[in-house]
Amino acid sequence: MRILVVEDDADLRRQLADVLSQSGYAVDLAADGEDGHFLGDTEPYDAVILDLGLPKMDGVSVLKKWRADGKSFPVLILTARDSWSEKVAGFDAGADDYLTKPFITEELLARLRALLRRAAGHSAATLEAGKLVVDTRAARASVNGEPVKLTAHEYRVLSYLMHHMGRVVPRTELVEHIYDQDFDRDSNTIEVFIGRLRRKIGQDRIQTERGLGYRLVVPDIEARVAG
Ligand code: CA
Repeated sequence: MRILVVEDDADLRRQLADVLSQSGYAVDLAADGEDGHFLGDTEPYDAVILDLGLPKMDGVSVLKKWRADGKSFPVLILTARDSWSEKVAGFDAGADDYLTKPFITEELLARLRALLRRAAGHSAATLEAGKLVVDTRAARASVNGEPVKLTAHEYRVLSYLMHHMGRVVPRTELVEHIYDQDFDRDSNTIEVFIGRLRRKIGQDRIQTERGLGYRLVVPDIEARVAG
């Protein structure tokens, strides 16, 4: 999952980048409204964290422009303390949730997970595909209750496929959602990640649809047992 953070406070921006990447997300950063608007306009984010008080273009204007252009990614706005009018303006512009500064990062992460789940049509914090379970709170996976050790990129690939379980995810889409903007993207490495994931979680959980992409499925044997 790939997140855009638009925040002009350099310390907070860096802090958010750290906590989000430690939580298994690819993160892009923008320090003003114009930059933020451009990134959201051109890159396929899974969610956006948007400060409202921004230089060059304020957050409400950024959000209005995205929504007017049909951008539907979930947006969590950061508002100043006690500013109910900011919250109202933010929601009216198309925000999905808000947090008042200062906030606790655990709460931000929980709200973000909820937004990502809802956007993908899930309701639980743990995603299950047969005996494969991904706990989005801890950024961890297990099979049959046994923890699976994954690298950051392997987790991102698995988490994205789990959020879109049963659908064929094109390789290019996977690339766009697991790397941040500055990463030297090479779609061939996706195949390497998929190969390693299959060795770790079982060969039959990720199907290759030739020429189309990858699909995460529940293996037949587990589907039959679940009946
Ligand atoms: Ca600000």
